[in-house]
Amino acid sequence: MNTKILLDENEIPKKWYNIQADLKTPLDPPMHPQTKKPVGPVDLEPIFPKELIRQEMCQDRYIDIPEEVRDIYTLWRPSPLFRAHRLEKILKTPAKIYYKYEGVSPPGSHKPNTAIAQAYYNMKEGIERIATETGAGQWGSSLAFATQLFGMECKVYMVRGSYDQKPYRKMMMQTWGATCVPSPSPDTNSGRAILAKDPDTPGSLGIAISEAVEDAATHDNTNYSLGSVLNHVCLHQTIIGQEAQKQLDMVDETADIVIASAGGGSNLAGLCFPFVKDKIDGKNPDVEIIGVEPAACPSMTRGMYAYDFGDVAGLTPLLKMFTLGHDFIPPSIHAGGLRYHGMAPLVSRLHADQLIDSTSVYQNEVFDAAVMFARAEGIIPAPESAHAIRVAIDKALECKKTGEAKTIIFNNSGHGHFDLSSYEGYFAGSLVDYEYPAELIAESLKKLPAIS
Ligand SMILES: *Cc1c(COP(=O)(O)O)cnc(C)c1O
Repeated sequence: MNTKILLDENEIPKKWYNIQADLKTPLDPPMHPQTKKPVGPVDLEPIFPKELIRQEMCQDRYIDIPEEVRDIYTLWRPSPLFRAHRLEKILKTPAKIYYKYEGVSPPGSHKPNTAIAQAYYNMKEGIERIATETGAGQWGSSLAFATQLFGMECKVYMVRGSYDQKPYRKMMMQTWGATCVPSPSPDTNSGRAILAKDPDTPGSLGIAISEAVEDAATHDNTNYSLGSVLNHVCLHQTIIGQEAQKQLDMVDETADIVIASAGGGSNLAGLCFPFVKDKIDGKNPDVEIIGVEPAACPSMTRGMYAYDFGDVAGLTPLLKMFTLGHDFIPPSIHAGGLRYHGMAPLVSRLHADQLIDSTSVYQNEVFDAAVMFARAEGIIPAPESAHAIRVAIDKALECKKTGEAKTIIFNNSGHGHFDLSSYEGYFAGSLVDYEYPAELIAESLKKLPAIS
């Protein structure tokens, strides 16, 4: 039984795949938050290194991965592709279920794939300190790990709700030498303004982004770094899908269904963009690609495709994306990494062009799937990753009805070892199945910035 499909270290891809080269419709440009005119590279230089700005706008199909970055990737890459034989058996499905496992990285998720690259380019350009936000703590700990390897400082603004729920993520960041504060914090103007209005707010990613951007813009030696959403972040994650395709080739499989959870969209982009390329190229035209969102924060499934700010304070450029509105504060669900109001512009474009589908699921059914998966396959998944597992199981059950032996692959984006308190809540029956009310979404969407 071929359960674990491994590549050699020298098979780590040498290039990232840039899907901008293959888009049917080019991306709409980011707009300046005040002038509402397209943002040029120079506008971004106060907070990003030049090479990442170049990658953000680059139209080349492939971009070389620096040797130093590949060297660090070898700490955990190539990541394994597993066939979930035991899960298939329990489901009595004719479908074949594969999953790429990104939980083998030191911080335990896919996020260091881009954290390492971003820290590297910042270091190369003489930056000494990076400010960032984190939701559930996976991004903050990934960037702490990455900056530490390059001898840089790191300040993390962590969404208060998660900061209180997940003390161990904070300690991980500290272990890797970073400073982590709950957001909103008294350390920035945007944080102080929100605290004055609502001292007990659980915070949101949008608020934490405002704080980190402000920090970077007001310190000379400091840049800002984002763990998802932006084009260069999606780019760096494509290493996942490229490896997965080689691994599927090794066992003579072609994917019929590709599934990943979607918060800001980067792990979805990472697994699926190489498959979207096959769909565009006609190599695998019928492959179904699905982003899975929480019903509490369904940007693609129920949001609007429009220009919006990336943060609450309106400091970031306006991005054309599926959004629930930048002042949307999603309820404190247990998949903190999926609580973002918008969706990566690249993923949004492909969703609008009907190359990527989306669906949304509730917390309790997600944890049903997580526990079933853990009992069958051993790995305890992050609640974020379990969104993909839920839909993979549902698709496998559909195959059982139709008798089709489809090949399903999903991204098991991280382990859930720091999320066990949410498992505790699930076992205690205290998880609430929250669906964001349509009126509140409409209310928030009314406040979208006007673009002429
Ligand atoms: C952050 C995170 C996600 C969601 O973020 P994306 O930007 O959508 O990738 C999913 N899974 C895990 C384990 C995460 O840490």
